Amino acid sequence: MIIHENHALQGLTTFGTPATARRVVELRGGSPDAPSRLDSEVDELLASGLLGEPYLVLGGGSNMLFTKDFDGTVIYLAEDAVSVGSGQGCHYLTAGARLEMDRAVGLCVDRGYGGGVENLSAIPGTVGGAVVQNAGAYGVETGDFVDRVWAVDLRERRRVEFGRDDCRFAYRSSLFKDDPARYLILRVRFRFGADFAPNLKYKALADELQRRGIGHPTQQQMRQVVAELRWAKLPRPEEHGSAGSFFKNPVVDDDLYARLVKAHPDMPAYPGNKLSAGWLIDRAGWKGRTLGRAGVWPRQALVLYNTGGATGEEVLALAHAIQQDVRQQFGVDLQPETIII
Ligand SMILES: Cc1cc2nc3c(=O)[nH]c(=O)nc-3n(C[C@H](O)[C@H](O)[C@H](O)COP(=O)(O)OP(=O)(O)OC[C@H]3O[C@@H](n4cnc5c(N)ncnc54)[C@H](O)[C@@H]3O)c2cc1C
Repeated sequence: MIIHENHALQGLTTFGTPATARRVVELRGGSPDAPSRLDSEVDELLASGLLGEPYLVLGGGSNMLFTKDFDGTVIYLAEDAVSVGSGQGCHYLTAGARLEMDRAVGLCVDRGYGGGVENLSAIPGTVGGAVVQNAGAYGVETGDFVDRVWAVDLRERRRVEFGRDDCRFAYRSSLFKDDPARYLILRVRFRFGADFAPNLKYKALADELQRRGIGHPTQQQMRQVVAELRWAKLPRPEEHGSAGSFFKNPVVDDDLYARLVKAHPDMPAYPGNKLSAGWLIDRAGWKGRTLGRAGVWPRQALVLYNTGGATGEEVLALAHAIQQDVRQQFGVDLQPETIII
């Protein structure tokens, strides 16, 4: 375990807003080529007294916005060891929480593991963060594949294990997100039951394959098209800071849903009274606009981004202005998907 005092967080999040943590504790764990020291490092952390003060866990920082300095401990886990195996008709991939989620997806695609995992290609961040956020895209979510999660309950100071059903996965949510800073996920096992069959439930993906004249896509082709589609409309983290979609698609009550559908026949509306946050923000006039050094991505209104040198407060001010306008114009409350510190 390495302790960095007064450590800058700017380079540890994709938004890249300036902030400092009183300390960052790095658990080095193990890598694909090195044995893991994680068990002894976890014991060291639990015995250290650091958990008596404010703390939080940071994965790849691709869904976190720091709006001010963090007067506590940021726990940063480096374990990215990975192994694969098969048994009883299933394939398994077990990964340290630090492994890049896209690397895990790539390893599954190389091996032909099924269930639509290729639709999760090119989502930034780590395996641990993807489980917490139940990260998803193109009709597939991380939780669809989770079989087992090994974690530490930092409140009760003990090791815990979860099966898939214990994780309470829901739209961009999980047990781990509902109870923030309680669990440190160490390792995740994913299970893949079926062989590859393209998951084309998401219309934009099916349309793009058709446009390219790909009738029977291979899994590698699916992965490539998904990645290309994503980067055509999203800011690349190395060019513009963001956290992807800043808001969740809202779910509204029956009455409001019926009124909005009637008033806006062109509005995308989904089963379960779900609306498109991107459409609402666009219609409220925010697409492509900036406030200070924070902006709304011109090709996807759901994405707030750092136009260069923005502080977390500037991004938050933009988010509040959008929430206010959407509430005023449509009566809908937008909730952030991004975790705001
Ligand atoms: C350009 C761009 C595109 C994106 N596209 C998508 C998309 O299509 N779909 C989608 O769902 N998301 C998307 N995101 C958001 C983000 O990539 C995902 O939510 C991702 O899964 C977050 O992973 P992370 O490791 O970066 O987590 P972080 O942002 O570091 O953390 C997120 C949460 O998880 C917790 N956490 C992280 N690791 C652990 C751990 N080991 N143990 C316990 N808690 C932990 C943190 O405390 C925090 O609460 C996008 C982001 C960007 C920048």
